Amino acid sequence: MIISVVVPVYNEQNSLQQFNDKLLDFISNQKDEYKIIYVNDGSTDDTYKLLKNIALNSKSVSLVSLSKNFGKEIALSAGIYYAQGDAVITIDGDGQHPISYIPSFISKWQKGAAVVIGVRKNHGGSSFKKLASGIFYKLFNAFSDVKLVPYSTDFRLIDKNVRTEFIKMQETNRINRGLIDWLGYSRDYVYFEPNLRHGGVAKYSFAKLIKLASDSFVSLTPVPLYIFGFIGILITPLALLLGLFIIFEQYILGDPLLLDFTGTAMLGVLIIFLVGMVLMSQGIIGLYLSHIQAQSANRPLFVIDYSKSTIDKDAK
Ligand code: UDP
Ligand code: MG
Repeated sequence: MIISVVVPVYNEQNSLQQFNDKLLDFISNQKDEYKIIYVNDGSTDDTYKLLKNIALNSKSVSLVSLSKNFGKEIALSAGIYYAQGDAVITIDGDGQHPISYIPSFISKWQKGAAVVIGVRKNHGGSSFKKLASGIFYKLFNAFSDVKLVPYSTDFRLIDKNVRTEFIKMQETNRINRGLIDWLGYSRDYVYFEPNLRHGGVAKYSFAKLIKLASDSFVSLTPVPLYIFGFIGILITPLALLLGLFIIFEQYILGDPLLLDFTGTAMLGVLIIFLVGMVLMSQGIIGLYLSHIQAQSANRPLFVIDYSKSTIDKDAK
C-alpha cells in the first residue's frame, strides 16, 4: 500500500525540523510505503528554506510551495491534489496532531472506513474559545444537512476514491472538513489527545476563526439566507390582523371596547406590517440566491461509492 501524508505549513520554522524528524522516523518503521507532501503556504520565515532542504535530502518527501499565503484550507487542497497512493492522511505540521495515532487511522481504514476523522478528546484553548466553538457546532448542526461532529479536525485519512471525488470540487471559499463530510462514504473516528505546539504560535486569530465559521455556514447551508424571511412570514400576518382589528374596532364599530388606539400605535402596526413585507422579500431573494449559489459551487450531482453494471468485466 502507498500512503501519502499531506502537511500544510505556514511559518513553522521553529517546529518543523522536530516534526519532520518524528515523521521520517515513524515512516521508516512501517511496512506500507509512505510519501510525505509538504505544502508551503507562502511562509515568510525560513520555513521554505528548511522544507527545500528536507525535500532534497529525502526520497520520501515532496514539496509544493504556493506563491503566497492562501490559507490552510487551500494549502490542504493543494496537497491532496498532489497526493497519490491508496490513502491520503492530512496532518498539521505544528506537532499538535500526534503522529503516533497514524496507525489507528490506517487500521480503521483497513477495516473498511473510506474516511477516518480525527476528533479531539479534550478541547484546548480558552474557555471563551470553547464556548464559541460549542455555540458554533450547535447552530451549525441545527441549520445544516451536513452534520459536523464537534471537535473533528483536519487530522484525517481519506481513501483514494474519496480523494478522486474531493479534487473535483472546485469551489473557492472551501472548508475541507465540510466538503469531505458532504461527500459521504463510510466513516470512522479516531479520538486523540492533541499535543501542545512544538513551537511558534497558532496562525488562527479569533478573526480568522470567525471567518472559518462563517465560511462553513455559507458553503454548507443556505439557511441563514432564509431566517429573516421566516421572521417576515411571522410578523406580517400578525401586523395585518392587528391592523384589521384596529380598523374594525375603532372606525367601523366605533370603539365599543374603549381601547382608544393612538395614532402612534397605528403607525407602529403599519410599520411592522411593511417591515414584515420587506423581510419576506429578502427571504425570497435568499431562495433565489441559494439556487445560484448551489449552481455556482458546481458540486457533482451525486457521488458513487460502488457500482456494478453488466459490462463491467472486472467488478469486485
Ligand atoms: N497553516 C497553513 N496556512 C495558514 C495557517 C496555518 O498552512 O494560513 C498550517 C500551519 O502551519 C499548521 C496547520 O496549518 O501546520 C494548523 O495551523 P494552526 O496550528 O495555526 O491552527 P490550529 O492548530 O489553531 O487549528
Ligand atoms: Mg495548531
